[in-house]
Amino acid sequence: SENHLFAAIRSAVPSPDKPLAMLTDGASATYGELLALSARLAGLLVARGVKPGDRVAVQVEKSWPCLALYIACVRAGAVYLPLNTAYTLKEVRYFLGDAEPALFICRPEIEAEARALAGELGVPSVETLGADGTGSLTDAAAAFPPGFDDVPRGSDDLAAILYTSGTTGRAKGAMLSHGNLLSNARALKECWHFSGEDVLIHALPLFHTHGLFVAVNIVLLSGASMFFRAKFDPREAIALMDRATCLMGVPTFYTRLLDQPGLTREATAHMRLFISGSAPLLPETHRAFRERTGHAILERYGMTETCMNTSNPYEGERVAGTVGFPLPGVTIRITDPASGAELAAGEIGMVEVKGPNVTKGYWRMPEKTASEFHDGFFITGDLGKIDARGYLHIVGRGKDLVITGGFNVYPKEIEGEIDTIEGVVESAVIGVPHPDFGEGVTAVVVHEKDAGLTEETILQALEGRLAKFKQPKRVFFVEELPRNTMGKVQKNVLRDSYKDIYR
Ligand code: ATP
Ligand code: MG
Repeated sequence: SENHLFAAIRSAVPSPDKPLAMLTDGASATYGELLALSARLAGLLVARGVKPGDRVAVQVEKSWPCLALYIACVRAGAVYLPLNTAYTLKEVRYFLGDAEPALFICRPEIEAEARALAGELGVPSVETLGADGTGSLTDAAAAFPPGFDDVPRGSDDLAAILYTSGTTGRAKGAMLSHGNLLSNARALKECWHFSGEDVLIHALPLFHTHGLFVAVNIVLLSGASMFFRAKFDPREAIALMDRATCLMGVPTFYTRLLDQPGLTREATAHMRLFISGSAPLLPETHRAFRERTGHAILERYGMTETCMNTSNPYEGERVAGTVGFPLPGVTIRITDPASGAELAAGEIGMVEVKGPNVTKGYWRMPEKTASEFHDGFFITGDLGKIDARGYLHIVGRGKDLVITGGFNVYPKEIEGEIDTIEGVVESAVIGVPHPDFGEGVTAVVVHEKDAGLTEETILQALEGRLAKFKQPKRVFFVEELPRNTMGKVQKNVLRDSYKDIYR
């Protein structure tokens, strides 16, 4: 028997000399080096006592060895558990306590604190890995051979635990199996026509499903290459485009690209595909990008618990404001959040998903897991509708729905109207406790410099455009909306800031 995910990756290796990751210093790491370094690291994991099924927690900056470490965990049959580098030591304490890893790999800068924490929590080993790829981990790995006997793993065995982004509350650990990851990467490779000719601009973090599983697994299964960058720099990305074929980004990548005069039809002529996900892409951004470059951004929809669920078509119309069709093997249905009954096309309800991509559940949270499944479908927590042509529209999160005076208000509709007002950059609509209405519709707006907008001008502009109950009771202006590292607007932060305004 073989290692389900790694056997597929190994058999897709084009040639050992082919560049896999083009690094910032001009050097390239090849496929052969991935095989060798991941073997050495897997040897080290075993020597440190990591057994099949053991978690390996990793909180490090993005680097080439960190990529090899993910593959090493897969080969050793361990469960890769990456943590957002923005987490404080206090937060890391929670994750280590929850996941009980056999090994914690941290940044050299926090080694002393990490060792103390590990001692306290009973985590047996700690190694370091720095942003430049050096540290005790790679030092120790050098002593191990460049070949490794891959630990057999079946499709149902765990490959990773990824914590959700924590946008709506405390992050939950989603258990992802070899089969979840491989089936999804295969479906995406097909859908997006990836091949060995492709060169991806990889500027996403490696601790989130987007940069790790969507980007890396597709590249590996296609025998493709990538420009591997620690951070997204729009000017650098534009400069790379004449040697690249694809960019995967969060919506803020695209708004930042649009701010660059260098983003032109000519600059993007060599690119075949721009992909967006992790947060909603504004239709305005889609249109502006198309006008400027001729490329229709392909928007897709997924989540930590399910990898990717739907995608706009590669061939066929990529409709702005929608997330397209279910991936092969994936079923999407829309249900009434109250009764659970399936709804007809066009009706807004809870998005539920079923398929080989869907998690077995949350790590050590059996009750939470049970409550998030409904007849074998995973309840995404997102509200949406399927239109007459079969495109899925995400209307927003269930938790962000505003209920005012007994009426449902979908923030996205109100935000869409506000965003069309001259001088508005973007907006977020939230529900805030209100003594008479239960919740009061409240708008938080970012405007252009010297736009001369006031609460009154916004409210006047909305009059007649929205039913009375949908109109914001108050409008606030801010410099920028609070976002987390994946570019997601943190509405819970906004709700907290404005929680007392109607009292
Ligand atoms: P938490 O579950 O901890 O609150 P999170 O849901 O933000 O955090 P992720 O798993 O990173 O954590 O994000 C998945 C969510 O991102 C989806 O449920 C959806 O709300 C949103 N999302 C992803 N892609 C899109 C998209 N193309 N359009 C709209 N929303 C999207
Ligand atoms: Mg979520």
